[in-house]
Amino acid sequence: MSCCTFCSNEAEKLFSHSTHNLGSLCIDCYMTLHGSCGVCSHHFLPSDPTPDVTYRLQAKFIGMGEMNLIVCDNCFEAVRKEFPQMFV
Ligand SMILES: [Zn+2]
Ligand SMILES: [Zn+2]
Repeated sequence: MSCCTFCSNEAEKLFSHSTHNLGSLCIDCYMTLHGSCGVCSHHFLPSDPTPDVTYRLQAKFIGMGEMNLIVCDNCFEAVRKEFPQMFV
């Protein structure tokens, strides 16, 4: 178990962002602080979210050694093509 850099909660998986390095964050902090694809910074949520609407996140995870990235569908496909050995 490791701890989230932001809220210090223990989390099974911590996530980083490839361009905005805020440390390793739990999924909740990641979505609050970044809320975007870890590769292309595409935002998962509208910038002006409507209250009472549940947004379904289309996010996927890529594990790169020590680092886990949350990526959008496009980046996931691109990475899978580029690095097929990561998905065996
Ligand atoms: Zn956290
Ligand atoms: Zn992306």
